[in-house]
Amino acid sequence: MTNNLQAATTLSNGVKKPWFGLGVFKVEEGPELVNAVKFAIKQGYRSIDTAAIYGNEEGVGQAIREAMTEYGIKREELFITSKVWNADLGYESTIAAYETSLAKLGLDYLDLFLIHWPVEGKYKDAWRALETLYTAGRVRAIGVSNFQVHHLEDVMKDSVIKPMVNQVEYHPRLTQQEVKAFCDKNGIQFEAWSPLMQGQLFDNPLLHDMAAKYNKTTAQIILRWDLQNGVVTIPKSTKEHRIIENADLFDFELTKADMEQINSLNQNHRVGPDPDNFDF
Ligand code: NDP
Repeated sequence: MTNNLQAATTLSNGVKKPWFGLGVFKVEEGPELVNAVKFAIKQGYRSIDTAAIYGNEEGVGQAIREAMTEYGIKREELFITSKVWNADLGYESTIAAYETSLAKLGLDYLDLFLIHWPVEGKYKDAWRALETLYTAGRVRAIGVSNFQVHHLEDVMKDSVIKPMVNQVEYHPRLTQQEVKAFCDKNGIQFEAWSPLMQGQLFDNPLLHDMAAKYNKTTAQIILRWDLQNGVVTIPKSTKEHRIIENADLFDFELTKADMEQINSLNQNHRVGPDPDNFDF
């Protein structure tokens, strides 16, 4: 399965999405962003996760173009994800938001377009828009983010197309067992955001000891745990040495007992907003 950086999961529609990618949340437009994305692609990353609200789609697009030219990579080798922001949820407005994301990125299609948050009363119209875009062949896959089981059930009961991905907060302190089981059962690829808990797990003694045991870093233990759990993961870093480190996951395997120990760290603890109680 996940034996190299470009290994991919097959989504329910047959499209392949790399198990591993780069996140760019909180990275502003500018050389740091462009360099990070280009460096990641040079190192073998093929999946980049951005969003309209990150305000960095133009720089991500620039980095993609430069990487394609400088490293001889074809567009179809890359997997580019963006997300429609809450203010744009609605049928026409979501379609317009897709066009805006494409224009900013300078691309003629995305590999994956997600509804960023399940805003009550708005996400179903947005989902119809995503279905239209998908059916028209404008986007290779469509999905959601921060959807709980009840949101997924609600969308699925009136829709023709099932979300192909659900991207949610997931790390050893928040293992989301109910949502994950639902996604696994329904062929919805589960994807982790803030897999490193935004840097808050590095002093955890269990992970620390495990890192020493495998001669790996704590970040690598966590990211390997994602992959072995069948979870797509997109850690963010703009530091070259960490972009390398985070992707160096394919020369070791956590034992079943160690996987279970990491699973047992769960405290249902979020670093981000609660999808059932947010006000933006
Ligand atoms: P992560 O859990 O990926 O943590 C990122 C932080 O950890 C940064 O401060 C980074 O710093 C640091 N870091 C990265 N690698 C290492 C390492 N090996 N050792 C030590 N520190 C490290 O947090 P994010 O919130 O960025 O989540 C990842 C991605 O998920 C986002 O970038 C975004 O694409 C997506 N996301 C989606 C959301 C959604 O609602 N759908 C919400 C939040 C995130 P540095 O850059 O300095 O290395």
